[in-house]
Amino acid sequence: MAYGRTRRRGNGRRPDGAQVAGFAWIRLDISDFPTRHPYGLGLRQKRIERILAGWVDELKVPIYRGREVTGFTQDDKSVDLQMSDGQSLRAAYLVGCDGGRSLVRKAAGIEFPGWDPTTSCLIAEVEMDQEPEWGMRRDAFGVQALSRVEGGSVGVLVTEQDLGHTDEPTLRDLSEALIAVYGTDYGIHSPTSISRFTDMTRQAASYRDKRVLLAGDAAHVHFPVGGQGLNIGVQDAVNLGWKLAQVVKETSPESLLDTYHSERHPVAARVLRNTMAQTALLRSDERIEALRDTMSELLSMDEPRKRFAAKMSGLDIHYDLGEGHPLLGLRMPDLDLATDNGPLRVFTVLHDARPVLLNLDEPGGLDITPWRDRVQLINATYAGSWELPVLGQVSAPDAVLIRPDGYVAWVGDGTDTGLRAALTTWFGSP
Ligand SMILES: Cc1cc2nc3c(=O)[nH]c(=O)nc-3n(C[C@H](O)[C@H](O)[C@H](O)COP(=O)(O)OP(=O)(O)OC[C@H]3O[C@@H](n4cnc5c(N)ncnc54)[C@H](O)[C@@H]3O)c2cc1C
Repeated sequence: MAYGRTRRRGNGRRPDGAQVAGFAWIRLDISDFPTRHPYGLGLRQKRIERILAGWVDELKVPIYRGREVTGFTQDDKSVDLQMSDGQSLRAAYLVGCDGGRSLVRKAAGIEFPGWDPTTSCLIAEVEMDQEPEWGMRRDAFGVQALSRVEGGSVGVLVTEQDLGHTDEPTLRDLSEALIAVYGTDYGIHSPTSISRFTDMTRQAASYRDKRVLLAGDAAHVHFPVGGQGLNIGVQDAVNLGWKLAQVVKETSPESLLDTYHSERHPVAARVLRNTMAQTALLRSDERIEALRDTMSELLSMDEPRKRFAAKMSGLDIHYDLGEGHPLLGLRMPDLDLATDNGPLRVFTVLHDARPVLLNLDEPGGLDITPWRDRVQLINATYAGSWELPVLGQVSAPDAVLIRPDGYVAWVGDGTDTGLRAALTTWFGSP
């Protein structure tokens, strides 16, 4: 994920080996991927959240912190939110980003079908009196890991013996789980956090109910294997944000919001399937080990490795925007362009989160005058090759229309055929 300005402040630590993509812990090397960052970045979620919060502050969006939504009503003009302090808020739209137990989803009556949990884990940061057995392992119970955390405490991930817990996890639960797996709790004390997660796998049947939309874990929950949840949640928000802005500003019709579900629902559905497959492979008995060996052998071959690595790192996302050039519906690569004003990177242009028409042919051939207030036209040249993750080499386009979320909405072949239609579909009537 390298969207907008968050990256310049990321300071992501390159973890050991830097190759962190994997399928059920079977390592997938992406160092030969045609992308500017063919590796993973280790950045703790609380830091990501701080970075994103800082960015939102910069944008001067009003934020009401520490307030709980207890319900809402909607009509055809607005949504009225009820808050736990008795106050209410009115908005044109409501986006429920309120996690897996989403009140917004439940109050909207949106179904959340899927599969009940088969495994339960505790994750915690604690102090330990004794030196533990560092590292990760899989055993008959599931996944276990003990790691050093900044500040000297210990990060614990331990699989519980039974699924029956429904209340808040305690230090005692953690101690019992550790003893069951390691034979000792290493003298744990002073927890700074303990939480429980399972492999419950569910997805909202619809991402929209009139003026109410869902994003992130409110729309999909799954086992965290492969580290995909936050990634797809942020991409939900990025897919939705510009569409919602255009609808609110009335430059696009409300029907644009329907593309949010049609584009993002299939992405999470695939993640749900791959996490279920991985959960099965993370268990341990002789037959599953035999299956893992088979999968490892398969994933050591180039083509399967590339496909699965692209799947796990989100580089294979392809929105169905119809027939055409292979770039259509794909994320625009971060090319090094040349312009009359000097070198320019594609992602730099996308920082403003505005649509871009990139003309790589002779300047002057594309007229977007009626959209000039909404769409930037950039004339540039690109001398490099067009190699894309999974797809490999594709023919060089003469122009591309890039949406604010970085996906390609139209590809030019030296003419402007289809350009007006694409501009109207995505950015409103002229
Ligand atoms: C152990 C573990 C490891 C993970 N590792 C990774 C990883 O490596 N990479 C990755 O991409 N993902 C990972 N994930 C998944 C990731 O943490 C989640 O997908 C992500 O946190 C979801 O973000 P969210 O904002 O949708 O929901 P949440 O993080 O659940 O945030 C929801 C927010 O809404 C607030 N809220 C809830 N109800 C209300 C209400 N009624 N009124 C007001 N506010 C409310 C909550 O207080 C909370 O702040 C991991 C998950 C787990 C459990």
